[in-house]
Amino acid sequence: MEDLNSGKGIQVLVPGPDHKFTLNEEALEKLLLRDDIKDCPIVIISVAGAFRKGKSFLLSFFLRYMHNKYNLSDGGSKWLGNADEPLQGFSWRGGSERHTTGLLLWSQPFIATLENGDKVVIYLMDTQGTFDSESTVKDNATVFALSTMLSSVQIYNLSQNIEEDDLQHLQLFTDYGRLALETSSGKPFQRLQLLVRDWSFPYDYPYGEKGGQQLLEKRLAIREEQHHELQSLRHHIASCFEELKCFLMPHPGLTVATNPNFKGNLSDISEEFKQALKEFIPMLVAPENLIVKKIAGQKVKAKDLLLYLKSYMNIFNGSTLPEPKTILEATAEANNLSAVAEAREVYETLMEEVAGGAKPYMQPSLLQQEHRRARDKALHAFRSKKKMGGDAFSENYGEKLFKELEEQYEQYRLRNDDKNVLRRAGTALVLLALALA
Ligand code: GDP
Ligand code: MG
Repeated sequence: MEDLNSGKGIQVLVPGPDHKFTLNEEALEKLLLRDDIKDCPIVIISVAGAFRKGKSFLLSFFLRYMHNKYNLSDGGSKWLGNADEPLQGFSWRGGSERHTTGLLLWSQPFIATLENGDKVVIYLMDTQGTFDSESTVKDNATVFALSTMLSSVQIYNLSQNIEEDDLQHLQLFTDYGRLALETSSGKPFQRLQLLVRDWSFPYDYPYGEKGGQQLLEKRLAIREEQHHELQSLRHHIASCFEELKCFLMPHPGLTVATNPNFKGNLSDISEEFKQALKEFIPMLVAPENLIVKKIAGQKVKAKDLLLYLKSYMNIFNGSTLPEPKTILEATAEANNLSAVAEAREVYETLMEEVAGGAKPYMQPSLLQQEHRRARDKALHAFRSKKKMGGDAFSENYGEKLFKELEEQYEQYRLRNDDKNVLRRAGTALVLLALALA
């Protein structure tokens, strides 16, 4: 069996110029198309969230679990390791140096057997650069969205608490992912596991899963007096994931948080933190708890993942996805407004062709027919344009558009009537002239 030291994080999604990403296809093929793996259903555990909040550090404990528990017969309860063993794995700590954005997969896949006897393969995925000030929002959204689309469990790593802006980020990024998936029915993603680091109110909500669930329910509760936006954000999150969980992690101790010489030795980590790791990690990767990746209801095999990745990349690098602007002013409104403007143009172009200023008078019934045709085309254009914010949100804009077009029609109708008056006046003048001649 290969040991942990010979593994490494492989960057599979690589940022390039112009905020485009490329896939490291060679590495992916090696990783996914191995003969003993390619036909196995996959489990992908991903960790995403802000920079320098202990994501890679945490994943390295997942690696310890996978190595000790899965590969050593005597792994037992000692999988966490020895007191003075430095922590190996995904490179953590990074200092303040700039990390590139992207996705990393651990070079060693782990094979597990589910309770029903099925063989599956587990990949651990690290994400980098999310919310890093030098990355653009689009980069962040791409990394977060892709990792959510690819994983069967997305761990959303948060510092200290679940704040409203954490939920807003989540909404923006999952919306981006959902848009790319082009699904409007069903829940596109599997488990979202919120992980709150350095939780410091264990007397309100205890560490671990139970306290996490209580906090999550409180934060995601939808109340009548809540502002409409807060409500729709909560609906959105609930509608994106099949399962929402939360775990409250205690502080790991000052050495971990502040000592530059800390190497990851267990003896330097607080007891509470270690205890929480022993609960948390098996919750996600013990064989009885594994969640196989599904896309559109189908189990995904290792070899399929490569195909999905390639087609997702085309979408993210293409031009059909709207650009997410600043994270806080989520682009939903702008998206919808521009879709309205485009739809209005469709209507105007068609109507000008038949009833513009230079066009002659036409029968009112014919004008109405033209109006309906143009209106339906415009509404169709509005609906088929990709928009953020969900259907309920854009419904409002659709209704406004409908009203606006009816008002415009009224203008065309009046102008047409005027032409009729002029025409009659014109005929009268001609007759008068003839009479006088
Ligand atoms: P990443 O950028 O999110 O991957 O963060 P890293 O895993 O590289 O860790 C960044 C720093 O945070 C390291 O110095 C760790 O020692 C420290 N760290 C790891 N876990 C925790 C935690 O739960 N709380 C605190 N306060 N620091 C942590
Ligand atoms: Mg990291």
